[in-house]
Amino acid sequence: MTLKQAVEQRIEQLKGLLNKASYAYYVVSAPIMEDATYDGLYRELEGLEQQYPHLISPDSPTQRIGESPVLGFTATQHSIALYSLDNIFNLEELKTWENRWRKLINPVEPVFYVGELKIDGSAIALTYINGVLEKGVTRGDGITGEDITQNIKTIHSIPLKLNWGRPPEKVEIRGEAFLPRSEFIRINQERDQKFANPRNAVSGTLRQLDSKIVAQRHLSFFAYTLHTQDQPQSQWQCLHLLEQIGFLVNPHRVLASSLTEIKSYYQQWQSQRNNLDYLTDGVVVKLDSVTLQESLGFTQKSPRWSVALKYPAQEASTLVKDIIVNVGRTGVVTPMALVEPVHLAGTIVQRATLHNQARIKELDIRIGDTVVIRKAGEIIPEIVNVLLNLRPPEGIDSYSMPTQCPQCGSLLYKSQADAAIRCLNSACPAIIKGQILHWASRDALDISGLGEKIIEALLKAKLINSVADLYKMEVQQVVELERMGKKSAEKLIQAINGSKGQPWYRILYGLGIGRIGKANAKLLSQHFSSSQQMTQAGLDQFEAIHGIGTEVAHTLITWFKNPGNQELLRQLHDSGLNTENPTIDSGHIGGLFSGKTFVLTGTLPTLSREQAKVFIENHGGRVVDSISSKTDYLLVGENPGSKLVKAHNLGIAILNQGELLQMAEG
Ligand code: NAD
Repeated sequence: MTLKQAVEQRIEQLKGLLNKASYAYYVVSAPIMEDATYDGLYRELEGLEQQYPHLISPDSPTQRIGESPVLGFTATQHSIALYSLDNIFNLEELKTWENRWRKLINPVEPVFYVGELKIDGSAIALTYINGVLEKGVTRGDGITGEDITQNIKTIHSIPLKLNWGRPPEKVEIRGEAFLPRSEFIRINQERDQKFANPRNAVSGTLRQLDSKIVAQRHLSFFAYTLHTQDQPQSQWQCLHLLEQIGFLVNPHRVLASSLTEIKSYYQQWQSQRNNLDYLTDGVVVKLDSVTLQESLGFTQKSPRWSVALKYPAQEASTLVKDIIVNVGRTGVVTPMALVEPVHLAGTIVQRATLHNQARIKELDIRIGDTVVIRKAGEIIPEIVNVLLNLRPPEGIDSYSMPTQCPQCGSLLYKSQADAAIRCLNSACPAIIKGQILHWASRDALDISGLGEKIIEALLKAKLINSVADLYKMEVQQVVELERMGKKSAEKLIQAINGSKGQPWYRILYGLGIGRIGKANAKLLSQHFSSSQQMTQAGLDQFEAIHGIGTEVAHTLITWFKNPGNQELLRQLHDSGLNTENPTIDSGHIGGLFSGKTFVLTGTLPTLSREQAKVFIENHGGRVVDSISSKTDYLLVGENPGSKLVKAHNLGIAILNQGELLQMAEG
């Protein structure tokens, strides 16, 4: 296929899918994809059309606003076209927008911008004749909308008569009808067929043929545009006038003399938008001067003097360039999709996790597919779904996971227990690299400067093969690495040696033992004062620690009994690392209460429940919530509950706080 054919095919596919989505969104009020996905595909189409303008056709979604009116309402021509807005997605694009309009006109006087919240609702146009509401029309395709006057009259924040002493003969007002969040939740609770979002609920409601239903839904309206004769020549003043004549105008607006002020306004509302009782999806930036607005005019679809700066999306669509597998420090092989770079939640994303083989199968993802990716919080982006409509019609090969480790060539092993695929070769460079990276990470030994690239170079030069080797390296050896100066080498060795002062629990965590995260490492370090004690401990001693389950205890036993691991600990100890915890009195370890289970009831004289629990655990005991025949002691305070009776019946020993403290002293 030639490039030309490929582009034509892609444009046709994008147009088809976007038009389908648009119909579902505007006409049926039941979207088939997330807005962010729509926006991403729309941008791709826009980009292709910019590159190949001769391929722009009238049926392209980039050539029209909204959707045609639906049947059931009278189609009405707008006296002034109702445009959409160009969307931009980050602050650099805001600057580009400014440069673009400044190229067309270059005002000598200072320029002001108005920042308004972009309300996620439905645009409507209202006409007042001699101050009285005559007509309310949906935006429709921008030229023709639907006459929904009867429904508009149910919205209390729209005045039927303007509060204007001698009103102009004709006033046109535009604004956004919206549903308060609380109202949206209420409506959806009552419906079987839920609205996908408040915006769809608004447009669905406005098109109800029965105005009584509309009235029950408590829609509201923010006004933002005024058209009349002799109107104020500033958007800011128009908003003020709208308020005076009886409209609800969004109070969170700003008059700014620079884009820097708009930037702070945008950032402020990006973080505070969840406190509002209505949804917003960005801010709208407008040139304040109506004269400037008029000189700039409109493109086919939107004003040149205004732009919608959308909040970063949590989802985006992009193209899969390749699928690779990553071997982690535990040997688990994780497939990753390498994607065409895309803006997502404020960062540029180039890879997304595919989790495992099962997920690949479920998604049926293939190299060359268009996919939707999502980022939730700090988590690595993941693939949500594949847009099958955009798969090349001639087909692409399905993907299967490799059978050999891409790093060391060993045969990969598929575990029946957790369906994970693993490289079992402990000498695999990818596993060793992962272990050392983990060891150097901030919560473990926190060795600054020991990143992925350096570790790779150290492994390649055979200077290290385990974390213990780090402490045997000398500056002269490190200097010999490619692109490594003497200063950097000294700094690295200093940072490595500095980590010898880290406490025992960090080392425990840094060893990367399965299931031993930060919390478990800390807990273990409170019960075992040294690596030696852990090497000698039996299963019951691990299990006796409240919070350490049987599986973790088994993992610990396996790890500490392994001669290779014991050798590693010995080497770390000899290099001067803290494989002991000096703050714990080892007399208590294994402790007097070792293997004993306690239950607490009532209020103790001086210890809180939490203090009593820690005290018991520090002496090797375990505290559980309910009494059974396996309980050894019931610790009783004032106003005990039914546990006391149960303990009596089961013949369990009963202690008070004083007796507990005496017992701990032996
Ligand atoms: P838009 O919603 O991106 O922006 C224009 C609209 O913003 C205006 O018409 C107006 O109604 C509104 N607005 C809110 N506050 C405003 C203010 N203070 N000043 C001026 N206008 C304000 O554009 P659109 O054409 O209404 O819709 C396009 C968007 O709809 C797309 O970006 C996409 O996110 C969504 N969409 C989604 C799907 C889907 O399948 N999910 C399909 C089609 C469209």
